[in-house]
Amino acid sequence: MTSPPETPLLEPFRVHLDLAAGILQDADAPLVRRASVMRGYYADAEALERLIEAENDPVHYETFESPVPEEYGQVKFCISKLYPGTVGDEFFMTKGHYHTVLQTGEVYLCLRGQGLMLMKLADGRCCWEPFSPGQLVYVPPYWAHRSVNTGDEPLISLCLYPGDAGHNYGDIQTDGFPRRVFLRQGQVVVE
Ligand code: ZN
Repeated sequence: MTSPPETPLLEPFRVHLDLAAGILQDADAPLVRRASVMRGYYADAEALERLIEAENDPVHYETFESPVPEEYGQVKFCISKLYPGTVGDEFFMTKGHYHTVLQTGEVYLCLRGQGLMLMKLADGRCCWEPFSPGQLVYVPPYWAHRSVNTGDEPLISLCLYPGDAGHNYGDIQTDGFPRRVFLRQGQVVVE
């Protein structure tokens, strides 16, 4: 049996989580995704351009990453904060990703807001789970995942994943998800 890779010794630490604001204090530099980085992701490209123009490229979502090295054996954690709104009639969503190491899963705990976790496999199978405070979604290995905000306040979640998982956004950029989430006559519709 081969032994697992070496993992460096860290000192234990704690961080403060602002559950209502969706902010992880002392996080590594927050990652800010503005609406313009979502070009190519929404069904209605013109509606996205209008949003970028009208609101001066507003912040779409933010992630606050734990200061934990991306290495085997570590547990990375982060806060994801996805703002509410629609592009045309499609709800705001994150880009979504596979893990670079496909055999790694992830846990998402919703802290605030309302939404869906969309998941898909490379063979096109797609499913989703409703996401609201207290709901924990387990994303098993191999499943790409994207959160969608169907509410009217930020969708805030805590995610936990293996340190060496990595993020693969490229395959989603190319293939997208087979399902989209729309607001139709006041209803949340997945189609
Ligand atoms: Zn992930």
